[in-house]
Amino acid sequence: MFAVALDGPSGAGKSSIAKAAAKELGFVYVDTGALYRTIGLYLLEHGIDPKDGARVEPVLPEIHVELQHDPEGQKMFLCGREVTGLIRTPEVSMAASHCSAHPAVRAFLLELQRELAQKSNVLMDGRDIGTVVLPDAGLKVFLTASPEERARRRVKQLRESGQEAEYEEILRDIQQRDYQDTHREAAPLKQAEDAVFLDTTELSFEEVVKQLVKLVQERQ
Ligand code: C5P
Repeated sequence: MFAVALDGPSGAGKSSIAKAAAKELGFVYVDTGALYRTIGLYLLEHGIDPKDGARVEPVLPEIHVELQHDPEGQKMFLCGREVTGLIRTPEVSMAASHCSAHPAVRAFLLELQRELAQKSNVLMDGRDIGTVVLPDAGLKVFLTASPEERARRRVKQLRESGQEAEYEEILRDIQQRDYQDTHREAAPLKQAEDAVFLDTTELSFEEVVKQLVKLVQERQ
């Protein structure tokens, strides 16, 4: 099996780029952020503060997270109920970022992620895929863009899907999640030493997908 570890901060375009590249390569795309989001949703729905590790850890065995690959994108299930759309709100983003700081939550999701990479060729996107989850990945890429550019892209994407979006608010949200993700003790977001650094601030979507596909083909 060949695994591609794609890490980087929120809003760098990892998921849409990974999805397009996986399609071209015939790989399975795995969005690991959706796993943390599903746990975040469970905690919000049960009135549990995602920052409170002492309350989060004991409920983990009750949380059944399931992932289904679909040509349209990955579908997520929480205790048998589809939550694919529900996990995309700003509240769930923040809950995911908070709960992902607890080592127990990370350990809970580790095996599931590794099993997925054993079953098929995967392009897995996240924060710690190259550093922790798949340290032996055939290719590691660290994908980033400036916070301002990431906020601009996110505003555009939200407005195109008919949602309201305010640039300053989105930028603040991105900066806060960057801070939380890079400063936590458990598996913080950082570039693996052997990862290829790809700054997409000045690149178009198509250019990034092309570069990623080329990198995979060279390594495979
Ligand atoms: O990628 P996405 O923005 O959907 O991830 C939601 C949150 O889950 C991130 O802010 C991050 O805190 C956490 N996450 C993580 N490790 C991963 C993927 C996501 O800690 N591999």
